[in-house]
Amino acid sequence: MSDSSLERWQDAGFATRAIHAGQDPEPRTGAVAVPVFQTSTFAQPAVGEHLGWDYARSGNPTRDALEESLASLEVGRYGSAFASGSAAQDAVLRTLRPGDHVIIAPDVYGGTYRQFKRVHEPWGMAFTPVDLSDLDAVAAAWRPETRMIWVETPTNPLLNVFDIEALSAFAHERGARVVVDNTFATPYLQQPLELGADAVVHSATKYLGGHSDVVSGGFVTRDEELAEQVAFNQNSMGAVPGPWDVFLVLRGIKTLGLRMDRACDNAQQCVEVLRSSDVVTEVLYPGLASHPGHEVATKQMRDYGAMISFRVGDEGLARRICASFEVFTLGESLGAVESLVEHPGAMTHMSVAGSPLEVPADLIRLSVGIEDAADLTADLQQALGTT
Ligand SMILES: *Cc1c(COP(=O)(O)O)cnc(C)c1O
Repeated sequence: MSDSSLERWQDAGFATRAIHAGQDPEPRTGAVAVPVFQTSTFAQPAVGEHLGWDYARSGNPTRDALEESLASLEVGRYGSAFASGSAAQDAVLRTLRPGDHVIIAPDVYGGTYRQFKRVHEPWGMAFTPVDLSDLDAVAAAWRPETRMIWVETPTNPLLNVFDIEALSAFAHERGARVVVDNTFATPYLQQPLELGADAVVHSATKYLGGHSDVVSGGFVTRDEELAEQVAFNQNSMGAVPGPWDVFLVLRGIKTLGLRMDRACDNAQQCVEVLRSSDVVTEVLYPGLASHPGHEVATKQMRDYGAMISFRVGDEGLARRICASFEVFTLGESLGAVESLVEHPGAMTHMSVAGSPLEVPADLIRLSVGIEDAADLTADLQQALGTT
């Protein structure tokens, strides 16, 4: 929660901040890599005095580095790191109270919807999925007790795009906050706080970590009051990441921009293969001029991301195609160096089956990694040849 390193690096470019912000050499030894402070407690010089850390759930220097790094990348002031993206979301939601109402994107990560509907709703909060590209629909769903709009953009798995600037202005006029799940875009492609959003959450398990080797989460804001509430929840509920996990996320963050550039280029080439295939009935990718969110994506994102969803018209065919890749790995999760393919209806989004957020059964989702483009496009072509 300190901001000394934030100030020092605030005028630097994204790649420089990704490598340095929060990660100045360790003052005692000069260690260039952030040390893993594998300790649960810290010796105190006198009763009631400490050197900045007393107990590692409340704070750990390795975690401080990630929190500053996240705050810097999202151009925020306060960062909090969590044991997972789900834990970060929970800590934010629990700043609300029973009776409060939240408007959510019409499709979100399945686990997000499950947490909102089955953990928070039974405790008295209410959630309404609304098409956030239609401000009249948002106005119609608005209640006196609406406190927050929860935006995922692009969404998981349908790649819908919503206008963060317009939604933030709309919510602020009505005294509510906007929280953006920036997992798919990453701060390299999209900076919601710069567009007026109040807070950002991340599943750092995905692009920030970037190597499929850690589960972690993050939260960033400029709003001191919200930052204090979330930090209080982080310490009180205790869903904190351990120092090794933090180390892995910091290590991943250093190459975030490079990885995103490469993955976006690879995704573009995969999109071309999908568009020219006759088994594909629809390609969902914000980079396509035909995508309903294309204009907004062009306005608020640096590039269109490396997640692609597509439909093939038939569930059985979708399942067979998913199973026949050789370079893409069949698996849940996303955002890592290796390309992944999955069937959302039966894998990541099973928890929304039967809900208003149910995803089409013929949908396939690709997380395009940073392998050689030619190997990815050949594999995609090969898999699409499956009948
Ligand atoms: C994975 C994911 C989450 C949940 O994060 P975990 O780290 O798995 O808890 C939240 N939002 C989005 C968009 C995700 O993809």
